[in-house]
Amino acid sequence: MTNPILTDYRLRFELINTARSFYQKGWMVGTAGNLSIRREDGSFWITASGCSKGELLLSDCVRIDPNGKVQESSTDLKPSAETAIHQILYTLFPEAQACYHIHTIESNLVSQFVPEDHLPLPPLEMLKGLGVYEEKPSCVIPIFANHLQVSRIAAEIQQRLTTTPPQIPALLIRDHGVTVWASCTTAARNYIEIVQYIFRYMVAARNIGIWKGDK
Ligand SMILES: [Zn+2]
Repeated sequence: MTNPILTDYRLRFELINTARSFYQKGWMVGTAGNLSIRREDGSFWITASGCSKGELLLSDCVRIDPNGKVQESSTDLKPSAETAIHQILYTLFPEAQACYHIHTIESNLVSQFVPEDHLPLPPLEMLKGLGVYEEKPSCVIPIFANHLQVSRIAAEIQQRLTTTPPQIPALLIRDHGVTVWASCTTAARNYIEIVQYIFRYMVAARNIGIWKGDK
């Protein structure tokens, strides 16, 4: 039988290690971004608000119940302000066990490439890593407007992704950042690395004029 204390230790350790790695890549500078991992009971651990993502401690993670209420916090730390988005994604995608959200320069730049609410992605081999197995794939990532009120972003994500399931497990919030979700932490980390690769490619390709799909 799994020891729940050891499991919680392992999950929080995974969160702070991943946050440190992303911080070192410049993807979670300052206190930006938030990472979460879901437990078997449906609650999830999420990084706390206002903490440097390069220096998180195990106590800097907060456990949230499936309804979005704080269930466990070792200090008076608050959960990430963007917890509502994680909660909505776990509700929409029952198979998701990890949800990672980062603020990167490339995700913000590509979110401005089109005025529409979705961004065409170049047909790169790397899309296979996001589950797209097609010859010359025509793939888009949804873009959502950024609002000061995070609950409004979460509501719009819930509404659109319910009626229009995304082709890949990722979404952009314009001029804000990118979010991925996956069935395990390893896959979520891979997805973040892949979307960042694709965004970097798009910025570079636009600079030398070889990717026109976004125009
Ligand atoms: Zn954010």
